[in-house]
Amino acid sequence: MGSKGDNVAVCNMKLERLLSMKGGKGQDSYANNSQAQAMHARSMLHLLEETLENVHLNSSASPPPFTAVDLGCSSGANTVHIIDFIVKHISKRFDAAGIDPPEFTAFFSDLPSNDFNTLFQLLPPLVSNTCMEECLAADGNRSYFVAGVPGSFYRRLFPARTIDFFHSAFSLHWLSQVPESVTDRRSAAYNRGRVFIHGAGEKTTTAYKRQFQADLAEFLRARAAEVKRGGAMFLVCLGRTSLDPTDQGGAGLLFGTHFQDAWDDLVREGLVAAEKRDGFNIPVYAPSLQDFKEVVDANGSFAIDKLVVYKGGSPLVVSEPDDASEVGRAFASSCRSVAGVLVEAHIGEELSNKLFSRVESRATSHANDVLVNLQFFHIVASLSFT
Ligand code: SAH
Repeated sequence: MGSKGDNVAVCNMKLERLLSMKGGKGQDSYANNSQAQAMHARSMLHLLEETLENVHLNSSASPPPFTAVDLGCSSGANTVHIIDFIVKHISKRFDAAGIDPPEFTAFFSDLPSNDFNTLFQLLPPLVSNTCMEECLAADGNRSYFVAGVPGSFYRRLFPARTIDFFHSAFSLHWLSQVPESVTDRRSAAYNRGRVFIHGAGEKTTTAYKRQFQADLAEFLRARAAEVKRGGAMFLVCLGRTSLDPTDQGGAGLLFGTHFQDAWDDLVREGLVAAEKRDGFNIPVYAPSLQDFKEVVDANGSFAIDKLVVYKGGSPLVVSEPDDASEVGRAFASSCRSVAGVLVEAHIGEELSNKLFSRVESRATSHANDVLVNLQFFHIVASLSFT
């Protein structure tokens, strides 16, 4: 019996219609596998704070709402915590400056397949206008209006000059598409035998790098039109410390080792054709600082207040580090929560189950290596628009 995804080639489909982290609240959901991202985000709050200090506060008598956006919000609690942090920090700045704070609006934005329902259910209740100020400090309440905005951040999402602050965490390493040459068998950039660019040939990685830089350029162009004068952005994405793009660092270990080997298992066992495997590529690129900076400089609209590579740590949260099977499970769940939707679209649910159970057993037998060596680095950019 053909499984659901048999006729679907990810490369031929618009990625932006398909891509999402795994929705819901189950074992492999993003909501349930993003505690590490939460920890990494917490460790960078001082950098976010610095960026928020650069945002211009409107002191006019009846100011428009202060508008903050989280781009690539996904469906877990992380985005809610971040927006809450931003609103509280900016409110405090208004208070400290002796200016009546305006109302706040927060937009949660992601691709249309994102599980916005799960996200909306996580939102705390809105406090009434009358007690807005007293309740600002109270936890468990929301002092801002919200809306969900579906669409790709590589295009315009908001009217011109309406946004005070853009935040985006762990999202900009997702490309808008796998470069076509990478899945074209006639091309020198064809990624034969691989599902990611970690360890791939130079032509393949160059195609990925170009795609990343072209995408980031579009992102900056769109945001430069939308941000208000005096506004700012705080961007965090997977990055790498090596200058060599074939060394994708933590992303390379996540998608280029046990995940890759599990695909090869399916091919060896005759469950997936080699070409079918080669038609699948993870549309992620972990840039170097230089890759990132070149694009910001070429765009020219934003001042770089800070641009650093930051050590985030392991993406795995395990309660018993000595328990190899827990480590293996965490690795497979982490991998599936971010790539599972794409895998299922390419080979269907049944084969996807087989693939991820092989990922799990392979990671279990290398548990120690996984725990020690799977480390994420992030590019952190604080940009302001004057
Ligand atoms: N910011 C969240 C989630 C990160 S997961 C956190 O900190 O936990 C990455 C998110 O980026 C996913 O939800 C994915 O759907 C989104 N994403 C990837 N490409 C995108 C694009 N082109 N436009 C908008 N969102 C995108």
